[in-house]
Amino acid sequence: VNTPNAITSNPDPHPPAPRPSPPAPQARPDIQGSTQSEVDALLRSWNQPGYRATQVLEWVHRQLAPNWETMTNLPRALRTQLDQQYHLRPLELVQRQGASDTTQKFLWRLHDRHLIESVLIPANPALYGQPSDRHTLCVSTQVGCAYGCAFCASGLDGWKRNLDAAEIVGQVLAAERLLRSQPVEAASSLALEPPGPAPRGASSRFIHNLVIMGMGEPLANYEQLLRALRILNAPWGGTIGARKITISTSGLVPQIQRLADEPEQFGLAISLHGATDDVRSRIMPVNRKYPIAELTEACELYQRKKGRMLTFEYILIAGINDHPSHAVPLGRLARRLHAKINLIPYNHVEGLSWERPTEAVQEQFLHALESQRVTATLRREKGHDIDAACGQLRLRSERDTPRV
Ligand code: SF4
Repeated sequence: VNTPNAITSNPDPHPPAPRPSPPAPQARPDIQGSTQSEVDALLRSWNQPGYRATQVLEWVHRQLAPNWETMTNLPRALRTQLDQQYHLRPLELVQRQGASDTTQKFLWRLHDRHLIESVLIPANPALYGQPSDRHTLCVSTQVGCAYGCAFCASGLDGWKRNLDAAEIVGQVLAAERLLRSQPVEAASSLALEPPGPAPRGASSRFIHNLVIMGMGEPLANYEQLLRALRILNAPWGGTIGARKITISTSGLVPQIQRLADEPEQFGLAISLHGATDDVRSRIMPVNRKYPIAELTEACELYQRKKGRMLTFEYILIAGINDHPSHAVPLGRLARRLHAKINLIPYNHVEGLSWERPTEAVQEQFLHALESQRVTATLRREKGHDIDAACGQLRLRSERDTPRV
């Protein structure tokens, strides 16, 4: 149903209501989603010495231990006790796709057999203001998506469930584990640090930046997202700086306002894709609930409180939002919000009729923005030769594989 005609003829003025349901409560939580204070409190209640929590979390976040058995400096009895208290369930790799320019997509299977994706971008030149030698992982926050953006593969089969914090953190740990175990030649071809003995500190990590832009609307899974990001940011956890984490949203105004009040300096990216209500509502139903004027105010609030530059993501779709005249309100909005713009040529999604504009049209649009003195980059898309559009690999795998 995600065709232009279906969207424009939809009389419902509101997008599908996000289901704010938290993940099902787990009798046995996964340690990948547990905080230091939780682990410490538990171990102290077992009369363990104060350094035990540090030891356990080092195994999880630094040594990337895949199970309790490998934690050899913990007493065996304690390992058994921990096993009874916590799951330690690394995500299972189902498929790894690599583009010729080394962008890689990982398809992971969760414990309930749902599939999610993460994307590794080895060099991300200035996309989010980071030096080009950094490695960025794009992670998912939901299985599917309820927001039904008309151009997106992630929402095509609807929303299934939120990820819990362990599954969000688990994507980073699983990707790190995978990169650490790959042969030296592959690592050097990716310009990664060479694998060696089990690293112990932040400097030996492969992944330095995160963008929360994979499958799902991150801010519709607010509690678990924030818990995961705090674990990934913590000195005892992922040690990824808050400024190196960018949260992307389709524009959930109340959650942007809430995020503005959080103490961390997370970057904020808005999946804009249209700078007028007319264009944006046509391709993003969420705009009917939170139109551009409201979204702009929420962004201004975020910027006032954080003092950080915003990013607009703008997927260029042929004949929909790629005319130079569309660049005028976009440039105006970017100047007002002091935002930079990432132009992303559309990646075709099987089953959808949208197309990528020609390179000439892409360049013309970029030029129209630059002539307004707006900072804009055109992503000469990495990963065009893999199922690069968000959610596409998972969608294809889900549809090809009978569920067990
Ligand atoms: S673009 Fe983002 S919010 Fe929209 S359907 Fe896709 S995953 Fe959901």
